Amino acid sequence: MTEPRHPPDAPDLVLRGRVVTAGTVVPDGLIAISGQRIVWVGRMDAAPSRAWPTPQTVGTTLLPGLIDLHCHGGAGGSFPDGDAEGSHRAARHHLVHGTTGLVASLVTAGEPDLITALTASADLVDDGSLAGIHLEGPFLAPARCGAQDASSMRAPDARLLDRLLEAGRGHVVSMTYAAELTGAEALVTQLNARGVVPSLGHTDADVATASASLSHASGNARAGRASVTHLFNGMRPFHHRDPGPVAAALTAAIRGEAVLELVADGVHLTDATVAMVFELVGPSAVALVTDAVSAAGRPDGRYRLGARTVIVTGAVARLLDDAGAPGALAGGTMRLIDVVRRCVHVTGVDLTVAVEAASTTPARLLGLHDRGALAAGSRADVVAVNDDLVPVAVWSAGRRVLAD
Ligand SMILES: [Zn+2]
Ligand SMILES: [Zn+2]
Repeated sequence: MTEPRHPPDAPDLVLRGRVVTAGTVVPDGLIAISGQRIVWVGRMDAAPSRAWPTPQTVGTTLLPGLIDLHCHGGAGGSFPDGDAEGSHRAARHHLVHGTTGLVASLVTAGEPDLITALTASADLVDDGSLAGIHLEGPFLAPARCGAQDASSMRAPDARLLDRLLEAGRGHVVSMTYAAELTGAEALVTQLNARGVVPSLGHTDADVATASASLSHASGNARAGRASVTHLFNGMRPFHHRDPGPVAAALTAAIRGEAVLELVADGVHLTDATVAMVFELVGPSAVALVTDAVSAAGRPDGRYRLGARTVIVTGAVARLLDDAGAPGALAGGTMRLIDVVRRCVHVTGVDLTVAVEAASTTPARLLGLHDRGALAAGSRADVVAVNDDLVPVAVWSAGRRVLAD
């Protein structure tokens, strides 16, 4: 009989570095991983067993795997296209850059295209490549369509939603909706009951309509909170005599009723706006997202978003308008770690705060209680970064992910 290489309680892998997780930094810490789980996290000098394998130092700082609630694609692949190969490539691209929990966002389209995309994305949730699906449409306000196809937007329809959720096979985790549409209240009731988080967005609602709807949406079965899709973008702007959805969203977030998505890439929002929201509502109510399109990780050029053409210049994605000129912003081109880096290095957000908003808070919104923290019992999703917050290694459920 051969001796086991380590005592039975010994982990498979021990990582050493600065451990950063929500609200905490351990300057010289260890993370012990056994199989798919983290079994111990703490200070190097408090490690419980000398029989452990030699700690590996990879990069300088260890973060929990990031969780992106709003992402349309990357590396040339686009989830709304519904092709398996492109969707896999997109999911993989974000994974190797540290996003171990990726929600695929679909855009407004006709029912057949949505069913195709839902079916393809559901396959990727089943094989572990995605954490869920976000329906960004079709129950949105044409007046606030952004880069989406206004001609396919429509009022809420319970039977259509049933068919969409069925095609998603239980993997649809959130849906963006405009609160002012006829039937929006019944839609929120239906989403709440099905464990799909209603996410207010692409909306022209007044403050009273938006507030009442967010309060209703905060009763959903998955998160117990509502969500707000890319706060400020694609919605009636704040005015002091017409405060609209922005005031409703901030108030709901302060009350613990809503989580606010921020596309904090320096393009969709100016840095002072991002800093203000963090100060007002705190990281437990902010989800940093990419809203990335297929151009993420690719050079400038022409790309697709659903049926629309997007032109990327200087890493800024814009829709081509009818005259062939760059128009509305058409999603982001960053990975979530790039958004975290910008928040820390440019906006001045504390790293623990940014990590909470890019991992812990989105995990809670999705109801993924074993993700979003470096803690004993959690899934071993770890991102090792260098001092510039560039990922140098990623582990997903304890397995090292290699760059393509
Ligand atoms: Zn949008
Ligand atoms: Zn989007």
